Amino acid sequence: MSAPILELVGLRKSYGAQEVLRGVDLRVRPAELVCVIGPSGSGKSTMLRCCNRLEEPTAGQVVVDGQDITRPDTDINRVRQSVGMVFQHFNLYPHLSALENVTLALRRVQKKDRAQAEAIAREALGQVGLAHKADAYPAQLSGGQQQRVGIARGIALQPKVMLFDEPTSALDPELVDEVLRVMRSLRDGGMTMLVVTHEMAFAHAVADRVVFMDGGVVAEQGTPADVFENPKEARTRSFIGRYM
Ligand code: ADP
Ligand code: MG
Repeated sequence: MSAPILELVGLRKSYGAQEVLRGVDLRVRPAELVCVIGPSGSGKSTMLRCCNRLEEPTAGQVVVDGQDITRPDTDINRVRQSVGMVFQHFNLYPHLSALENVTLALRRVQKKDRAQAEAIAREALGQVGLAHKADAYPAQLSGGQQQRVGIARGIALQPKVMLFDEPTSALDPELVDEVLRVMRSLRDGGMTMLVVTHEMAFAHAVADRVVFMDGGVVAEQGTPADVFENPKEARTRSFIGRYM
């Protein structure tokens, strides 16, 4: 098996006296799409945010392409470029066009000139089906389109892995599919993805592996068929039973 692109080893995170992650071990291999499911408060977002150091882990390692990014000498800017993130609430800049939202990090962080940045951004917008909306502002876009801009912003940096934190949870139901379709096409293009989601049908149909988190640990993981059709743990069964 190929070496993981992203590996969490004994990852722990506490907020004060509350231990939110209690030793998470997880591997994502090249071109794998891993879906993380689990109850609210189980630590899914915290786990993702530790993967690009939006949160500082209390203990354990986050290894990206062989490099432990929890080391104090790590260049956070480089981490943020190699680990892309898509948020539930899009987090676009309202005063910038779709194109400008995507070019921002290319220019500021990757120091591309305007022409280069725009060429890359237009290609990324094309990949999410929004080439024709380059000049639109977020308020002129539907939620689904805004989230696709969020995805374009991530992939434009050519990250080694993309993290998604409930990317469709803030969307009206009729807008969910266009975002899931884009995610599916990214995975078909070989993108390595770690996706926190409540879209069980998507996880079932598209994930290579499903990870069930509960109480700050990985309680169970396996193929979608293992986890959805034949869960070993009672708490997995009970969680999945609520959706299926
Ligand atoms: P999930 O994404 O699975 O719903 P989270 O990772 O958001 O879970 O949260 C796990 C727990 O950590 C929750 O109890 C939450 O209240 C707590 N938590 C998350 N972020 C913070 C924070 N910045 N400060 C204090 N507690 C937090
Ligand atoms: Mg969350």
